[in-house]
Amino acid sequence: MVDLKGQYEGIKEQVNTSISEVLDSSAFINGPQVHAFQKELENYLDVKHVIPCANGTDALQICMMGLGLKPGDEVITADFTFAATVEVIALLNLTPVLVDVEPDTFNIDPDAIERAITSKTKAIVPVHLFGQCANMDAIMELAKKHNLYVIEDNAQAIGAAHTFQNGKKQKAGTIGHVASTSFFPSKNLGCYGDGGAIFTNDDDLAHTIRGMVNHGMYKRYHHDVVGVNSRLDSMQAAVLRAKLPKLDEYNKKRREAADKYSKAFEGQPNIVVPKILAEGLDGHVFHQYTLRILNEKRDSLVQHLNDNGVPCGVYYPIPLHLQKAYVDERYNEADFPVTNQLVKEVISLPMHTELDDEQIEFMTNLVIDFVNN
Ligand SMILES: *Cc1c(COP(=O)(O)O)cnc(C)c1O
Repeated sequence: MVDLKGQYEGIKEQVNTSISEVLDSSAFINGPQVHAFQKELENYLDVKHVIPCANGTDALQICMMGLGLKPGDEVITADFTFAATVEVIALLNLTPVLVDVEPDTFNIDPDAIERAITSKTKAIVPVHLFGQCANMDAIMELAKKHNLYVIEDNAQAIGAAHTFQNGKKQKAGTIGHVASTSFFPSKNLGCYGDGGAIFTNDDDLAHTIRGMVNHGMYKRYHHDVVGVNSRLDSMQAAVLRAKLPKLDEYNKKRREAADKYSKAFEGQPNIVVPKILAEGLDGHVFHQYTLRILNEKRDSLVQHLNDNGVPCGVYYPIPLHLQKAYVDERYNEADFPVTNQLVKEVISLPMHTELDDEQIEFMTNLVIDFVNN
């Protein structure tokens, strides 16, 4: 699904040099590389504060802790996404409220959010799924109207931007009150282990969160709040520093591969290609290239691709509201028609920076021949 080795070949010298620097300095935790990466990412995103941490799941949890969400507060998020989002809501004893998504973008449906808002709702967590921003016009408007926080889960869309209806453009993860991201190796900006970060333009919140990631310490050995231990280590920061200057180029390569896939699938009655909402390369950064197979052949297509040595993935096969850990009598099947359908139709094809035309042609022919027969 990804080709991290091929990508490494292109940046080997730089990565090896900066990792050697970390080894020579022995500043493995909170070394100068971490601080430098933080500043470089702040510049890239045009955001006031980046707070590095250990992974994307921690980042989400710390966002919610930083905002002071309390047990019983309701947090609305998408039913069709990776489980990390609902997991941290539940871990903090907040009440997850899962809502349906839009069929064409796979992103959280603002109408469904609005229907789910109650007097206990405190926050919305849109996930910018597969590399494209959720409908941030509608989400920010709802948040304003109902006085809610917006926490963007930007694990899959770093480098993407959202173009507002008024033409204003903002990078994913800098639109809501706070955002989280992941540097898991297969993400668009991945390190060589675990890593994550939190972004915000709010000075006070940034201060709160900086202490929280470090055991709630604002002054050495003074623990003012309950915190966690969540750090990005210096080696990972060194890798990320080598990769960040290439992120736009990497995302461009993903987009070019996606465009080639979509062109090959043009006119196929049973194959729906991903919809791109905005113009410009940063409108969709294709963390995943995800098709919908309409003629009930998704599962057999997965088998067929595997038999032919083509990796593929089903993201995601089970709606979160049907996952054992998150089932709840509050949920009504009739509220999730889109997610319930998507889990049966979606299939993601290999997507990375090293795909060549021959591979794409081979895979698209395989898919088309199978789906049509
Ligand atoms: C990857 C991912 C996460 C979790 O990131 P980790 O670094 O693996 O903890 C959270 N949310 C979404 C949408 C993700 O894709």
